[in-house]
Amino acid sequence: MQPEFVKTLILGSGPAGWTAALYAARAELAPVVLTGIDLGGQVALTYTVENYPGFPEGVGGAQLGELFQKQAERFGAKVEFESAQSVDLSSRPFKVVTDNHVYLAHTLIITTGARPNLLGVPGEAEMTGMGISYCATCDGAFFKDRKVLVVGGGDSALEEGLFLTRYATSVTIIHRRDSLRAGPILQNRAKDNPKIGFVWNTVLTEVIGKNKVEAARLKNLQTGEESLLPTDGVFIFIGHTPSTQLFIGQLEMENGYIRVDDRMQTSIPGVFAAGEAADSHFRQVITSAGMGAAAAMEAVKFLEQLTQEEVHD
Ligand code: NAP
Repeated sequence: MQPEFVKTLILGSGPAGWTAALYAARAELAPVVLTGIDLGGQVALTYTVENYPGFPEGVGGAQLGELFQKQAERFGAKVEFESAQSVDLSSRPFKVVTDNHVYLAHTLIITTGARPNLLGVPGEAEMTGMGISYCATCDGAFFKDRKVLVVGGGDSALEEGLFLTRYATSVTIIHRRDSLRAGPILQNRAKDNPKIGFVWNTVLTEVIGKNKVEAARLKNLQTGEESLLPTDGVFIFIGHTPSTQLFIGQLEMENGYIRVDDRMQTSIPGVFAAGEAADSHFRQVITSAGMGAAAAMEAVKFLEQLTQEEVHD
C-alpha cells in the first residue's frame, strides 16, 4: 500500500476525537479521523445527554455525536470508517496501519476512549446478547414488560436503570455497598421511581439460564448468604477500561490510561491523547471535548515548530 502523509491523524470518533478534528480542521491541518468500530464512541449509545452546555432540554447522545461530526466535516475534516490495526511511534512521521491504508502522520491525536468492564462471572460470556447487556439504550426495548437487574452503583448504573424503567416492569439495582457512588440528582430520581428497587451489599456471582437469562445468583457480602433471583435480563455498569492496547510499550501509561501532561502531550513529542483513553477521572462529554480541543491546539503548535522539509504531504 502506498503510504499517505497526514499532518494530523485522529484515532477515535467520540467527543474528544470530533472536537480535535474540528480544531485541527479550522487550523487547516486537513485532519483525518479514523472512526474505529464504535462510531461516535460511548456517548452515541447514551439516550439523553443533559449536562452538555447549549442544550437546555438535553440532546440525544447519537444526535450529539452526529452534530460533532458534521461540524468537523464542515471545516474539512476527512472521515474514514476504519480502525488502526497497528501503530509504530518509534519515529516520526508516525506509522498507523489500517485494513485499507498506511498513514504516515506528523502528529497523532489518540482519542480511542474506553469500553465497559465485564464482571467475569460464570454465564456472563455465554449469555451476552442473550439477556446480558452493557447498553440500555441499545437493548432496553427487548425487555418490554420484563424484569431486569442492573449491576453497579455509579452514575451509569442509575442513568441506564432509569432508562430501563421505560420498558421493564421492574429494575433491581444490585450494588456491592450500602451507599451509591452516583451523584445526588440521579440517586433521588432512582429512589423516587416506583419501578426501581435496590439490593445492597450484594454481588452477582453467576448468571443462570439456557440460551437466555433466567436467574442471577447473588451473594450478600455482609452475611455470606447466597440466593437466586429470577430475572429476564442483566445490565452491567461497573466502570470502564481504556482502549489503549495498541500503545502498550510505546507510550507511558498509568493503569492502562495514556499519561498526558496538562497540554495533552504524551511521552512522545507529537503524539497527543484526549478523552477517556487518557482520563480516568472526569469522563464527561464536555471534559473529553475540552481535552480534544487542547490536543489539537497543541498539535498546531507542534507542527508550526517543524521545518517545511519535515512536513511533506
Ligand atoms: P463508576 O463511577 O466507576 O461506578 C462503577 C460502579 O460499579 C461503582 O458503584 C462500583 O462500586 C461498581 N463496581 C465496580 N466494579 C464492580 C464489580 N466487580 N462488581 C460489582 N460492582 C462493581 O462508573 P460509571 O458509573 O460508568 O461512571 C463513570 C464516570 O462517568 C463517572 O465519572 C460518572 O460520574 C460519569 N458518568 C456521568 C453521567 C452523568 O453525569 N449523567 C452518566 C454516566 C457516567 P463502588 O461504588 O463500590 O466502587
